[in-house]
Amino acid sequence: MPIYEYLCLECDMQFQSLVMKKEEEKGLHCPGCGSHNLRKLISKAAYHVSEDSRIDLFNPNARQTDGFYKDSRNIGLSAKKMAKSMGIDTGGRFDEKLEKLRTDPASIIKDSV
Ligand SMILES: [Zn+2]
Repeated sequence: MPIYEYLCLECDMQFQSLVMKKEEEKGLHCPGCGSHNLRKLISKAAYHVSEDSRIDLFNPNARQTDGFYKDSRNIGLSAKKMAKSMGIDTGGRFDEKLEKLRTDPASIIKDSV
C-alpha cells in the first residue's frame, strides 16, 4: 500500500497518509489545522534520494509528525542542514557519530557519560 507524504499549505505541517483510492485522497485533511489545502510530496521516490537531497528538502521550521522522528534517517538532518547552510563540512567523524546514533542510540549515551 502506498504511503504518501503531504504538506499542509496552511500551516506547513508534513504528514503521511495511506491512500488506497483516489477518492480517499480528496477527503484528506491536515491533522494539525484540518485544512484540505494540501500538496502531495514525492514520498516513495524520496526514500531513494541522496542524503544531500534529503537535507535540501528538509524544512527545519516545519512541524513534523511523530512518524518523522521514527524514521532514523531524519535524525541529525537538522544539524546537517544547519552545517551545510553555514558552509561547514561536518566531515567523517560527524557522519560516523550520526550513523551510530541512527543505528545504536544507546552507544552515544554511554560514550558521552
Ligand atoms: Zn495544516
